[in-house]
Amino acid sequence: MKRPISDCPHGAAELPVSRRDLLARTRDGKGACSACGWAEDLRVCQTCGYVGCCESHDGHDTAHFEATGHPFIRPRVARFLGPPGWLWCYDCRAYLE
Ligand SMILES: [Zn+2]
Ligand SMILES: [Zn+2]
Ligand SMILES: [Zn+2]
Repeated sequence: MKRPISDCPHGAAELPVSRRDLLARTRDGKGACSACGWAEDLRVCQTCGYVGCCESHDGHDTAHFEATGHPFIRPRVARFLGPPGWLWCYDCRAYLE
């Protein structure tokens, strides 16, 4: 399910929107989960840049949200020209576009 980004009351509309900023926020940081070292299907916290593995592994992305309240993640983009991908808000429990 997708919601318009403007419908998120948690600040999604204030996240950087330029392609350059999006790429920076999904490429920076190490290429492994900060909690367990897993290196596939990583998610990047859009508030602080924390890198965590996804729900199909140990769910350290969700653990980070539960510990910090940072609600936004995007998939980490490994290659320079990769698209920034989707944006998920844990508080909305929805993908935003
Ligand atoms: Zn939201
Ligand atoms: Zn992990
Ligand atoms: Zn964070």
